[in-house]
Amino acid sequence: MCGIVGIVDAGGVSHPLYYALYALQHRGQESAGISVFNGDRLRKHKASGLVAEVFDTETLRKLDGQIGVGHVRYPTTGANTPENIQPFNFRFMGKGFAIAHNGNLVNTRELRTSFEETGQIFCTTTDTEVIAALIATELRCSGSIEDAVRLCMARLRGSYSVVMAYDGAVYGFRDPLGIKPLCLGRTPGGHIIASESVAIDALSGTLVRDVRPGELVRINVDGVSSTQITKVDRTAHCIFEYIYFARADAIIDGVLVYDVRRTIGEKLHEEAPVDADAVCPVPDSGTAYAIGHARVSGLPYTESLIKNRYMGRTFIMPTQAAREQAVRIKMNPIRKHLEDKSIVLIDDSIVRGTTSRRIIQMIRNAGAREIHMRIGSPPIKAPCYLGVDMPTREELIASCRDEDQVCDSVTATSLHYISFDALIQAIGHPCDNLCTGCLTGCYPVAIDGETALTRDVEFLDDTFQLGLDSFDKTM
Ligand code: AMP
Repeated sequence: MCGIVGIVDAGGVSHPLYYALYALQHRGQESAGISVFNGDRLRKHKASGLVAEVFDTETLRKLDGQIGVGHVRYPTTGANTPENIQPFNFRFMGKGFAIAHNGNLVNTRELRTSFEETGQIFCTTTDTEVIAALIATELRCSGSIEDAVRLCMARLRGSYSVVMAYDGAVYGFRDPLGIKPLCLGRTPGGHIIASESVAIDALSGTLVRDVRPGELVRINVDGVSSTQITKVDRTAHCIFEYIYFARADAIIDGVLVYDVRRTIGEKLHEEAPVDADAVCPVPDSGTAYAIGHARVSGLPYTESLIKNRYMGRTFIMPTQAAREQAVRIKMNPIRKHLEDKSIVLIDDSIVRGTTSRRIIQMIRNAGAREIHMRIGSPPIKAPCYLGVDMPTREELIASCRDEDQVCDSVTATSLHYISFDALIQAIGHPCDNLCTGCLTGCYPVAIDGETALTRDVEFLDDTFQLGLDSFDKTM
């Protein structure tokens, strides 16, 4: 759960990177960083906090250059320490090299150990530094970024969307299964590679297309080129991006996330209709779902909870009592919309169940008579090892409870999760092309102690280059 971006712009990249990171803020609120190359030096600025807290006019002015990468971090592996904040800058064979990564490797430990046995030392506990070490190993031998990324795709197991700035260009590549998103766009002054299309929109740019699974894209001041390094018969796009993680206005792997959520809302009504007074979203993650539900159910879409937009993750909650209080500060019910009403309450997912339970109590205290909970994902039964911050099986409320038991636990009047088939239909990608590990407990890569349905990755011998002319035709 991180956001990454790489930009080339003859007019300078620090401000475009800043705006792009701002648009990707939902992907990570713990830290932010930008590295910029000006043809001579690689400069960086990074710190803990939100994008707006980390950068100001002066820091951006100092980051002069036409090539750069940026990162917002939500840690999945690696401790929350200053040295783990990305991007990482290295100097390698006389050249600056900056790298940022979104995803999670499942074989980091073995890779790290094999490097350490050769005397390599690491400064951080991140997967990203392991990826950088692999790239440097191959670059030292062949001098070719394509070969270095090929080595990564042969050795790394897990999810990785990566952006790098090296030798006058920005590179972006996506793991062979395309687990985490990455897309390419054209901006008024150049090109951009980013986790979500919303970063391209923020720069008034145009989405060209998604970076393909197993593809390496290179952008520089002359334009774009691409190398397809691997080919798979089935991809494994993360299903949770569509359910919760990505912004509703993002287009991921050709699908508008908002459409998926609205369609799921429609299907929630079809699968479990209720005769209620209103349909209410849990803001903001339930909004598009509730709009879809209201459209087909005919129930009035009603906001009954208002979210305080200024409460970040950094909100200090020193005691349990304060944590209990936090939900009241984060969300406030509109009593007039709830008193003596029967409502359909829609959220994207139930993970631990604590949020749903507290919200239901709050709504009931505000006078609601019946609360019919409708959830935009099937039960989350298994942890994520591939980049989404999910708790262990023991903490997941649905891992060992059926729908009725979860309903009792969160104290709803009724509960319905969208069916797996309806979710797949709403996304529109074949089920085999999605990673559904958190819903099925079956993962697309081998993970110790877990069930896997792995994909065959074919390495293309004759890597073909798509020049700028042919590039747009491949959209
Ligand atoms: P809970 O059931 O208390 O764990 O909270 C679930 C709610 O948190 C969902 O309705 C989502 O809106 C949100 N959520 C889902 N997945 C995550 C996640 N991995 N990290 C943070 N929030 C999440």
